[in-house]
Amino acid sequence: MPDATKRNPCPICGKPAEQMFRPFCSKRCADVDLHRWFSGSYAIPVTEDEEVDERREESGDEPN
Ligand SMILES: [Zn+2]
Repeated sequence: MPDATKRNPCPICGKPAEQMFRPFCSKRCADVDLHRWFSGSYAIPVTEDEEVDERREESGDEPN
């Protein structure tokens, strides 16, 4: 077996990643990361208005 324990450590807690939960060490850490992603994308207060406006213009070409 190759050095499985030398793989990248869990990005959440730093423990050796478990092959089953790569790149995390456990399902719990995978969940934590997932949560970070979700809450992160929800918390981004970017100028969404501008993006929406652009999209509107793109689809505004439709003949109505
Ligand atoms: Zn972990």
